[in-house]
Amino acid sequence: MDFTLSPINKMVIKAGKDFCERIVPEIDAYMAEHGDYPPDLLEKYAKARMLGFDVPKEYGGLATTNFNLILLIEEFGKTGSTCFLPLLMNNSVAETICHWGSEEVKKKFVPPLCDGSAWATMAFTEPDTGSDPKMLTTTATPDGDDFIINGCKRFISMANKPGYGVFICKDLSLAGQPHDSTAFIIDKKSPGISCSGHYELTGLDGADTCDIYFNNVRVPKENILGKQGQGFNVLLRWISGERIQQAAGMVGVGHQAYLEAKKYSMQRIVNGMPMGYMQGFYWMLGEMKVKIDACRLMVYNAVCKQDAGKNFDTASAEVKVFTTPLIQEVTRMAVQFHGSYGYSKEYLVEKLFRIAMHQGVVASSLEINKTIVGMTALMSK
Ligand SMILES: Cc1cc2nc3c(=O)[nH]c(=O)nc-3n(C[C@H](O)[C@H](O)[C@H](O)COP(=O)(O)OP(=O)(O)OC[C@H]3O[C@@H](n4cnc5c(N)ncnc54)[C@H](O)[C@@H]3O)c2cc1C
Repeated sequence: MDFTLSPINKMVIKAGKDFCERIVPEIDAYMAEHGDYPPDLLEKYAKARMLGFDVPKEYGGLATTNFNLILLIEEFGKTGSTCFLPLLMNNSVAETICHWGSEEVKKKFVPPLCDGSAWATMAFTEPDTGSDPKMLTTTATPDGDDFIINGCKRFISMANKPGYGVFICKDLSLAGQPHDSTAFIIDKKSPGISCSGHYELTGLDGADTCDIYFNNVRVPKENILGKQGQGFNVLLRWISGERIQQAAGMVGVGHQAYLEAKKYSMQRIVNGMPMGYMQGFYWMLGEMKVKIDACRLMVYNAVCKQDAGKNFDTASAEVKVFTTPLIQEVTRMAVQFHGSYGYSKEYLVEKLFRIAMHQGVVASSLEINKTIVGMTALMSK
């Protein structure tokens, strides 16, 4: 596969770098003070033409590629900021609704996700499981032209922000059938919805991740995304794209950790010379670079399959399996380069190390992805 970057790809990277240099520091300053995203964050993204990458123009999108989106996300990853999460979510949920939705659903719910007036959410995880659809307990009970939703979704990104979420529920009208989950688009400010406070996370400082509770929340049948019983399919397709985007962000995180280590290794004098000249350290730098370059190629390979309209589930799972331990190792090595300074909040590498830890447990766990790759290998000829 030829991964030569086109003039448009380069333009996207340049726009991303520019936004990250000029705007992200002020976003981060707000997040450090308030522990939350700035209320106008999505408007900033919409103004910078960063929402609706893989969404047709008629629904307010940019009608460009997922490849361009992952190039942009890598630039955000380099900043160590958490502000890329809503960018990623609005893009991926808008694309998901476009894929599965009826014409009316697309016209109603996609434009607000592309113009930044609605915050997107995708919710599967519950107190009892984040992996197994058979364990879901949030129920959807049919009632005339509506469904009534009851239950709780856990660790949900942007759950308490105004806008729409896709919620995967146990559909009681399908009770006893093998596939009984259905995806509903729900306005997060509907009567009967409430949220917990944010979780205090290891990394992703300021991320808005909380529990969301449904107490007899009424949702019209027209808000079903896909068909009844396809809830888990909606989730799996979304998560395949999300894993690639998340990994692109983590390639940015790893790349920056490598650059920070390289810079420090030329500044810090050990045994009378910059430590970077010691074989042990330049070997480490070499290893870090090779790991990041390989991770980036894995991401490019998977996203090209996605853009070509091929099945990309396994390629996306392979990305998670391959890149998660490598990027976590690269950020750990960058901390080690810095000695005790690396273990202090004065240096970016400490933050990068904490962010990298989330990749193994968010957007499906590492083990679930090993299962996907392993089972696919077993079943293939
Ligand atoms: C910052 C953050 C943001 C999040 N945002 C969202 C969101 O927006 N929407 C959402 O729905 N969720 C979200 N989550 C939740 C996250 O996706 C889940 O926590 C994750 O999928 C794992 O689920 P779990 O924690 O319930 O682990 P479990 O499913 O209980 O698994 C526990 C452990 O067992 C392993 N395991 C489980 N099943 C198997 C198996 N069959 N074979 C081998 N090993 C297995 C897992 O790998 C894991 O190590 C978020 C989490 C965080 C931390």
